[in-house]
Amino acid sequence: MSGFVFSEKPISIESGEGATLVAEDGTEYLDMGASYACTPTGHCHPDVVAAVQDQAADLLYVQGSYPVESRTTLHEKLGALAPGSIDNVWLCNSGTEANEAALKFARSATGGTKIVAAKRAFHGRTMGTLSATWKPKYKKPFEPLLEDQVEFVTYGDEDELADAVDDETAAVILEPIQGEGGIHPAPEGYLAAAREITEETGSALVFDEIQTGIGRTGDLWACEGYGVTPDVVTTAKGVASGLPMGATLCADWIAENAGPHGSTFSGNPVVAAAANATLDVVVEEDLPGNAAAIGDYLQTELAALDVPIRDIRGEGLMIGVEVKRGANRVLRDLALEQQVLALPAGRSVVRLLPPLVLEERHADDVVAALADVLAPKAESES
Ligand SMILES: *Cc1c(COP(=O)(O)O)cnc(C)c1O
Repeated sequence: MSGFVFSEKPISIESGEGATLVAEDGTEYLDMGASYACTPTGHCHPDVVAAVQDQAADLLYVQGSYPVESRTTLHEKLGALAPGSIDNVWLCNSGTEANEAALKFARSATGGTKIVAAKRAFHGRTMGTLSATWKPKYKKPFEPLLEDQVEFVTYGDEDELADAVDDETAAVILEPIQGEGGIHPAPEGYLAAAREITEETGSALVFDEIQTGIGRTGDLWACEGYGVTPDVVTTAKGVASGLPMGATLCADWIAENAGPHGSTFSGNPVVAAAANATLDVVVEEDLPGNAAAIGDYLQTELAALDVPIRDIRGEGLMIGVEVKRGANRVLRDLALEQQVLALPAGRSVVRLLPPLVLEERHADDVVAALADVLAPKAESES
């Protein structure tokens, strides 16, 4: 039964450095997926590795009620880096847990029960966050979920959102750019409208920045690029360079009425050390700035290609390339013929979420690889 819920890839990875992954047979791959945005600082950044090694030698774990320097520092650091003044930090171990906490806190703080989420949304796989996730494929075998309490609206439609939100609404949960749903950035004005609508009813506005956060879209948090501060931001994936960590950042009015909640491994000292080093590297090396610059370059170069591409969407180093062939075939050819590892987002979108240390020469390699793979092949070759 080992590994029974994951499909395995035919490439065994042994090591990594920067934007490169090395297979057991020595083949080097350009990592354009960062294992779902989990390695913003690149593989094995020396500062992150050193922080983990030092903390592991001192103390692997002590329960959350004892202050430990790495954990205390992370609370302060995340609080200081949080958008606006949503600087109350709850630490956990994954994205779904961060969102689960956000939904619980919102219910407790507002007294409402209803959750409004968007079609195409992905918020996680535990019962609560799965209820706010759109794709039937992920949900069907586990139903009934919180069906009666979750209402789905069309992403980007302000009027539908205004109609769905009322005094019973505890939370509106949105990704500033939908990731799993196919890389769809929020249309102009939509997040600001969500802010106004939720303020009127006293509902919590939750931004799920698990994929968009930690510099990926060109700002530390995508919501900063949109100029909108919600009541809650959730983060995970890249926050500790791939070690298991999630966080729920809350405004005072949420934190003060969050209700009882807890998790044994909350702020594990070793993972907290990795997160501290990650955030330092992201700020000191201006990885959001690099993501913006290389992302723009990549989108411009891709747009100039003369191959069948339907659409290119995204911000910074969160880019979706909608292709005419099935995305999975394109991804297989990229991996096996071009040594470029990327991700799907649905059936027709190739998703690029590389480490934020990506350089222009890497972008050139990806563009050349896509040009080759997407070029119409002569009949005789197949
Ligand atoms: C990956 C993801 C999650 C779930 O995170 P896990 O750590 O897998 O539980 C939630 N929301 C978004 C936007 C994600 O990309």
